[in-house]
Amino acid sequence: MPLGLYISVPFCRTKCSYCNFASDVFSKAAYENYVSRVLEDIVNSRRVAAELRCALESAPEETVDSIYLGGGTPSVLHSSQLQRVFAALRAQFAIAADAEVTVECAPGTLTPALIETLLQCGVNRVSLGVQSFVDKESQSVGRLHNRTTVLGEISRLREAGLANTNIDLIAGLPHQSTESWDFSVAETIATGVPHVSVYMLEVDEDSRLGRELIAGGKRYHAHFVPEDDATADFYQLACERLTSAGIAQYEISNFGRLPTESRNHQSRHNLKYWTRQPYLGFGVDAHSMLLTDRREGCQAVRFATSDSLDSYMNRAPHTATPVSTQAALEESFFLGLRLNRGVDLQGLRQEFSPEMVGPFESGIRQGLDEGLLEQQGTILRLTVRGRLLSNEVFARFIADEITMGTGHVNPR
Ligand code: SF4
Repeated sequence: MPLGLYISVPFCRTKCSYCNFASDVFSKAAYENYVSRVLEDIVNSRRVAAELRCALESAPEETVDSIYLGGGTPSVLHSSQLQRVFAALRAQFAIAADAEVTVECAPGTLTPALIETLLQCGVNRVSLGVQSFVDKESQSVGRLHNRTTVLGEISRLREAGLANTNIDLIAGLPHQSTESWDFSVAETIATGVPHVSVYMLEVDEDSRLGRELIAGGKRYHAHFVPEDDATADFYQLACERLTSAGIAQYEISNFGRLPTESRNHQSRHNLKYWTRQPYLGFGVDAHSMLLTDRREGCQAVRFATSDSLDSYMNRAPHTATPVSTQAALEESFFLGLRLNRGVDLQGLRQEFSPEMVGPFESGIRQGLDEGLLEQQGTILRLTVRGRLLSNEVFARFIADEITMGTGHVNPR
């Protein structure tokens, strides 16, 4: 099975108020040491895989068909640093000629020199953290770009041959209204990009804005954050508008233009997370999953680096979680249900066994009765309402808590 590679770059130009990731603003002097540390891990990847007894020595030698630089803001790295990362990956892994190679970029960083570097590194997909085309909204959460910058950079990317671009949007930003959100979605469609990600603002104590919202305060424009119901409505509106424009939803937060003869616009890299294909992550707070040979009831191993930059730089050991056959089945349900195509119950019975799938049937029936799930033949899917309450549905498929990592698939 082809492997995906993820490289985490935890540096940003500013810290967005809603951000709960292991990223921050550091001096450029820190970048060089970090890149060297990541390169060390890339070189050592076979040894780490062997120590964890997962997919053992063979996995890193498999062909790589996706590379994803996320974070953080990888586009803040110097050209020579990006080149060193890609050179190390190409030296250690067999990269398929048609591999999907994505770099997340902050609007406002895409200089002609950076675009040239991306092309030299073999990058063929760019993900832009736009979040909103309304300047007041993006600036209220600390973004440095404006609408004009974004549109100019998308044109520049297209002229350079990098038309395969994703735009990230966030529903629920401060000051957002139905009209302003409609405008952001319409602007996104008008750019002609083939892929869009739509996230709903997360309110949790791991971000400054989330803490302020929980405390009921006014800092970070918290009192201008729309109500949850309005945010859910924005999300639904985006689903409808994008679908009508031929950008079909294929996962809870992801939409791709319908496939053409030459390409499928769904993110190959992100699909690995939801379909349980192997991937290796490098850098701070980077998650990996490698398959095992299924000895001793262990189907795969998930492992992760520390989410503290200091600990990572000081070579803190990975945390590793073996994935039992039971856990693999649970993952197949709650990851597969993220996708609009759903899960094939018959396929799961064949892959695992009817006896293992049987105990999930009461939860499935409950989801069907509540209108959160729908079933067609043997295919089980979330309904539109189920997508809004997906965490509630997924909880019914998890017996024990499992360490999961999906890296960059959250809003950046
Ligand atoms: S949201 Fe993205 S750009 Fe903003 S601080 Fe977090 S990682 Fe950096």
